[in-house]
Amino acid sequence: MTDVDVVVVGAGVAGLTTARQLAAEGVEVAVLEARERVGGRTEHGPVPGHDGVVVELGGQWIGPSQTRISGLVAELGLTTFDHHDDGELLIELDGRRTRMPSHRGAVPRLNPLVLADLAQAQLRLERLARRVPLDAPWTAARAGARDARTFASWIAANVHTRGARSYLRVATEALFAADPRELSLLHVLFYLHSGGGLASMTSFDDGAQQQRIVGGAARIAEALATELGDRVQRGRAVRSIRQQRDGDGRHLVEVAADRGGTVTARRVVVTLPPALAGRLRYDPPLPPGRDQLTQRLPAGSVIKLHAVYPEPFWRADGLTGTIISDRSPVGLVVDNSPPAAVPGILTGFVEGRAARLLSRRSSEDRRRLFVAALVGHLGSEAATPSAYLERDWSAEEHTRGCYGAHFPTGVWTSLGPELRAPVGAIHWAGAETAEVGNGYLEGAARSGDRAAAEVLAALR
Ligand SMILES: Cc1cc2nc3c(=O)[nH]c(=O)nc-3n(C[C@H](O)[C@H](O)[C@H](O)COP(=O)(O)OP(=O)(O)OC[C@H]3O[C@@H](n4cnc5c(N)ncnc54)[C@H](O)[C@@H]3O)c2cc1C
Repeated sequence: MTDVDVVVVGAGVAGLTTARQLAAEGVEVAVLEARERVGGRTEHGPVPGHDGVVVELGGQWIGPSQTRISGLVAELGLTTFDHHDDGELLIELDGRRTRMPSHRGAVPRLNPLVLADLAQAQLRLERLARRVPLDAPWTAARAGARDARTFASWIAANVHTRGARSYLRVATEALFAADPRELSLLHVLFYLHSGGGLASMTSFDDGAQQQRIVGGAARIAEALATELGDRVQRGRAVRSIRQQRDGDGRHLVEVAADRGGTVTARRVVVTLPPALAGRLRYDPPLPPGRDQLTQRLPAGSVIKLHAVYPEPFWRADGLTGTIISDRSPVGLVVDNSPPAAVPGILTGFVEGRAARLLSRRSSEDRRRLFVAALVGHLGSEAATPSAYLERDWSAEEHTRGCYGAHFPTGVWTSLGPELRAPVGAIHWAGAETAEVGNGYLEGAARSGDRAAAEVLAALR
């Protein structure tokens, strides 16, 4: 006899989706979560002075092509609203500041040479990306050569204007929270295919950033956890997983966690980001390939900053609130106000190397820098936010970097098959393991479906 049939490690969207699918099939499941809250990389930050208003410290947007997470949101009875995108955005590129229409399809007011260069680069990337098999990127045509090359080297060889190179760097940081020099070209192509293409992944209008969830994206995990009830155990950091066979030759796993000791089960699903999955103790030790994989999948670096104002004053000036900059360490700013637009909230993203540098500075330094950047673009009205909130995801013990893990050169082609392959009774889920929507909430939910199906098949 075991305590439960299946232990799920982690109560982010992946873990809770796994558990929900298993519970629906009558499987006894326990979800062990290290934090005192569920949601993992989605989290609410209550806004001081505005009862019931939260900023989204982590993941927030979903888009119309992300059908699994959109369906789940609807099933859970949550409602969505469109990201505020009416008006013009501000872009600072290669030393020039421009206002331009935000909606998809509008021709950006950029130097025509830069525009043409960007268009040809995007076309090539999309064409190459479509040919990468999502279930096995290592089998793609010229996989070895593309995996041996960084995205930075591809940009240097295929993008000719400074403006277009700069734009692609900012877009890369926005998607991966990492620099093009850190990424395998094959991984970038896989990721673009998995996310529905560069255009969709970088757009609000009809793209991956079209919708937000009323009350914040962490409501998804909260609603799932409410359904699962006391199957979800908070404050229980898993430390080790021991596998053996019982007297009947059946798998028996012992999952040791803080507060309350060991839980025994037939199967365990680990939904942690790869770097954290690699820090658990396994007995017997993981096979070399799996362990080497987790050694090679670093998380990106991102700090998300929020400045709160009585109202979104920039809207009166015809601005969406979106600011894209290749100069500022805050590469992207968006209007993150709640549906009623009270208060007005501007959210900034510091990604990649800039995040690693600013991570060493104080919160007050980061506030000052963010507010100065906003004043530079929006004027003195931005100078005195009523509140400032931030989350440095690399500093979070139970996340250690965001948005997700990325593949540096050589990893997909040498260790890719280890990503989802179960090790005995241990199964792997999490946004990083998804074929579709990899790195996104969409991928997290889909990975839960896949892991639950694997476990069900194994238990039968
Ligand atoms: C700033 C930011 C912005 C983002 N923006 C978006 C966005 O707009 N749209 C989008 O789709 N995605 C976005 N993402 C990504 C998205 O949030 C993630 O892909 C998704 O939440 C990952 O879910 P998961 O369940 O795979 O992993 P996690 O959410 O990381 O879940 C893992 C869980 O395991 C727990 N855990 C860790 N160690 C242990 C342990 N030893 N024992 C037990 N539990 C443990 C963690 O606390 C966590 O709850 C963003 C992420 C960040 C950080």
